[in-house]
Amino acid sequence: MCVPIMVHDIHTALADAVAARDAGADLVEFRIDEFFSGDLDEAPGILRMIAESPLPCIVTCRHKSEGGQYDGEEDARVSLYERLGTASGKDEHPPRYLDFELDRYTSSENIKQKMNLAIDAIGRQRGSPREHAPSLILSNHDFASRPADLSRRVLKMRGEEAGSVMKFAYRARSLRDNLELFDLLAERDRPMIALAMGEFGLISRILAPKFGGFLTFASLRPTSTTAPGQPTVSELLDLYRFRSINAETKVYGIVGWPVGHSLSPLVHNAAFEALGINAVYVPLPVPDRAEGVQGQEKEEGQVDTGRMPVPRDGVESAGYASFKATMLALIDHPRFDLCGASVTIPHKENLVRLASEQGWEMDDLSKSCSAANTLVIDRDAAGAATGIRVLNTDGPAAIACLREGIGEVAGKRIGILGAGGVARAIAMALGMAGASVTIYNRSTSRASELAQAVTNNTGAACKAAELADADMAHHEAWVNCTPVGMKGGPHPGASVLGDAAFRNSLPGTAVLDTVYNPIRTPLLERAGAAGWRTIDGVSMFARQAEAQFHAWMGRNSPGSLFERLVRERLAT
Ligand code: NAP
Repeated sequence: MCVPIMVHDIHTALADAVAARDAGADLVEFRIDEFFSGDLDEAPGILRMIAESPLPCIVTCRHKSEGGQYDGEEDARVSLYERLGTASGKDEHPPRYLDFELDRYTSSENIKQKMNLAIDAIGRQRGSPREHAPSLILSNHDFASRPADLSRRVLKMRGEEAGSVMKFAYRARSLRDNLELFDLLAERDRPMIALAMGEFGLISRILAPKFGGFLTFASLRPTSTTAPGQPTVSELLDLYRFRSINAETKVYGIVGWPVGHSLSPLVHNAAFEALGINAVYVPLPVPDRAEGVQGQEKEEGQVDTGRMPVPRDGVESAGYASFKATMLALIDHPRFDLCGASVTIPHKENLVRLASEQGWEMDDLSKSCSAANTLVIDRDAAGAATGIRVLNTDGPAAIACLREGIGEVAGKRIGILGAGGVARAIAMALGMAGASVTIYNRSTSRASELAQAVTNNTGAACKAAELADADMAHHEAWVNCTPVGMKGGPHPGASVLGDAAFRNSLPGTAVLDTVYNPIRTPLLERAGAAGWRTIDGVSMFARQAEAQFHAWMGRNSPGSLFERLVRERLAT
């Protein structure tokens, strides 16, 4: 793992290099493109930095044409590389690597010759005075997208034998752009760095050791990244267990949009660590752009009138085309080893739709509410997918939480606030468990549609009502499935139930708030003050994640690990 350091002054750069070593890095990259003005009198300072570096280093003076800051004379830049590469005086030595752009290297025979002198490809033999000459990293960057002529660039790179390490970095426009980089790594004829930039490229950085990447870059601090999407050293080491990733590592992840702030990587990676499982859990962002969803045929999920309709177009089908293309590409990739995923907003319905199309196995709850949050992929020893299932762990998790508050749910009167994705799963699961459910929602048509589906599908009594009527109703338990009260949501300081609800309540009423950030929502604060039993969203989050873990691993996650980690994280 290499920490890039943008050099502004030698003293600070060295302090950062020490911090990088202490944080666990193997290598630093001194990016001197802002520091070097074109004046070769600056070379002694740079050589002192190389000599005093606590870690082996790459020196890069990145040219403006490839995303760097250097726009001075090319002759001066090449002369500097030559000076650094051939340093041999007292207290000075060359860096371990010099990074130079392939396109500049091949732009003239003169530059090529001088760079070859800097690395002394011929003299760099054991025992020779130039044994410690630097190795050349030939690099190629595209900050816009995957280059259209990538294959040509790879061939051109392969033709340049002076390059000891090949580096390709381009902006990923989707998760699928990473797969091509993994294929390049598999076919490499010498050490290769292959990284995708941007939030879709994070997996290329985390999974570099799985595919034999020469290194990955990680920043010292969130504010000191040198390329978009670069993780920090501590994220790589502590969250993603970078040191334990190898060719055999199984991949799991959270599919949704956005997924950057999900707590799922925290809990699942911690469980892998605690149980010594060779797996990693990564963010798998799939955007909600609606693409190519028109003109499709009726799907399995739409035939049974007892089910919620499988979304087909418009807002509810958001991103189906990209979801489908991405999931199938990840599942089918011969080396990616995707063995399971959590699926969240906006793709829970898309998962059921895809499972119907592909004939994957589905649990009853996912079928009846047309939303699933868990994908399980069984693979044989050769890595081929042998069975794919989807299930919904939100409903059972909510029921487990409610049992803590009111005991068995069968026969109990339960009010659900909201009629969105989570409400659907919970209402349907409660109907299946024999509870008597009333759905209160802002848009009553949505509440009626859900109530009808629960009744049709489960045979349980399920009614719909206006959200405004909730305050005057009596239930043994309530479940908030709206984002009201959520940090960063539409009404962060508000409670979806008003004063009258607490005044009119039955003794021993319980409330589960699915919102988990903050842990004590305004609804739970008010309910607690009124003497209600309160169950927070962390309990539900932990239970749905534990059920996912069990579905993937066939064993339990450790004790209360998930709940403890989430509570600790949200408390900070
Ligand atoms: P969703 O599909 O977007 O549904 C949101 C529901 O809330 C809709 O019924 C919507 O009413 C209603 N709503 C939205 N804003 C409202 C407002 N200002 N006032 C009243 N009602 C409002 O979302 P979802 O996927 O069901 O998620 C809902 C909540 O569940 C999220 O806040 C999330 O934090 C929580 N959640 C928790 C867990 C857990 O494990 N603890 C898991 C998943 C989700 P309309 O139909 O009228 O638009």
